[in-house]
Amino acid sequence: MPGAKGGRETPDPRAVRTRQKTANKTERRRLASNGSMPAKGVMEMAEIAVVGAGLSGLVAAINCARAGHEVTVLEKYDRVGGEPENHPSVDSTPMLPGPLGDFIGVDLGPPQVTPTLYMRSYAYGERYDIDGGLLHLHAVERGGRSTSIESYLHGLALEAGVKFEFGWALRSQADLAHLPPNSIIATGLHFESFLALGIPFRQVYGYTSTTRYEGEPKAVAYFSDMTRDYCYLANANGIAYALFFDRSGPVRRALVEKWAEMLRRDKDVDFREWHPFSGAVAVSALDNPRLFMGDKIIAGTLASMNDPLFLFGVHASLMSGKIAALAVDDKARAFELYRDTLSFYRKAWTLRRLMDMTPMPLRRQAMRAFLGISRARPGLYGKIMFYQIPGLRQMEAGKFT
Ligand SMILES: Cc1cc2nc3c(=O)[nH]c(=O)nc-3n(C[C@H](O)[C@H](O)[C@H](O)COP(=O)(O)OP(=O)(O)OC[C@H]3O[C@@H](n4cnc5c(N)ncnc54)[C@H](O)[C@@H]3O)c2cc1C
Repeated sequence: MPGAKGGRETPDPRAVRTRQKTANKTERRRLASNGSMPAKGVMEMAEIAVVGAGLSGLVAAINCARAGHEVTVLEKYDRVGGEPENHPSVDSTPMLPGPLGDFIGVDLGPPQVTPTLYMRSYAYGERYDIDGGLLHLHAVERGGRSTSIESYLHGLALEAGVKFEFGWALRSQADLAHLPPNSIIATGLHFESFLALGIPFRQVYGYTSTTRYEGEPKAVAYFSDMTRDYCYLANANGIAYALFFDRSGPVRRALVEKWAEMLRRDKDVDFREWHPFSGAVAVSALDNPRLFMGDKIIAGTLASMNDPLFLFGVHASLMSGKIAALAVDDKARAFELYRDTLSFYRKAWTLRRLMDMTPMPLRRQAMRAFLGISRARPGLYGKIMFYQIPGLRQMEAGKFT
């Protein structure tokens, strides 16, 4: 019999999808008749809910809709672009916009994604410069302005037929249980979902600030005794963004003021309004990464899509949206891609653990030695950076085409 394997017919994907849609609708009607539906939008919601209109959520929604699913995105705030207090902002990341764009089905370029001129690092008084091209470093505007990546992806999602419901937040296991099977949870660094899903996390603390600033995109990182992580500065599209963060404990405001003073003096950039932030990242354990939870799919930060060493997350979260969308129709293939993307996770996690245990004087030496590679062997330094960004090395090798 054509299409038969081992005596069973290979299911027609369209028929499976129709059966799944009917089953989901029946279940939603049952819940509604119980009076146990938590939000108005969930009742009218399509076959798949994507929770969180961030990087991974929007890419997932676009890809699910293009694959023929009815998709509703449920977002906590009343617009796309994350917490209004901490945006607009500028993230920096090594990225290959061409292959990444091909993989996620979205063209990536200016103004949302702009090549960065150089990466400058200060480590304990020493300066290290590396050409942005060598690292494929890009500035990515985040937030709700028209030039941000979220606004761009939102537009593409609307074009693909995705529906949005704003002002709905996932807060509990009960909320989760009400979502249709194969819903995608992509709520970033916010605590509620980590708690609702019971995913262990590591807390990060910090302050952010944004100011007007013209000029070609650049990135500057500061490694010092002020934080066990780092501070950084990046600019694009007429704004500069500063982040002071630490995962070892809350950041003292006095240290932030000290850094702001340094930036005014040395960089002629004036950050005045600082906003505290705190978030969760799923890099707390070796076995934390997960793509599935019950009948739901996990994406972005919740799915450990950050490198454990420096917490870069933009590249992997964009990839994660596509992987989550694939998981709706082909779980095995999606899991394979997920595992490939995080193939360096365990090594990076172990390295970070060692870093955290290393006393400060030794850490200083280690950081200088690491950054010293950027002077002596810039090509090698670029390769190391590629290794640590989840999925980037594989993308360069053409594994995700
Ligand atoms: C201050 C800061 C600076 C960073 N800088 C960099 C950088 O320079 N380079 C880099 O590579 N990475 C950086 N990162 C990491 C990167 O931003 C994240 O890894 C990436 O945004 C994660 O994407 P995501 O899809 O998981 O979530 P996000 O893009 O954060 O989206 C989450 C969405 O879910 C919504 N949401 C949250 N909770 C709920 C809920 N309960 N119910 C419904 N909706 C909800 C949010 O409002 C948001 O719209 C930074 C992170 C932070 C916090």
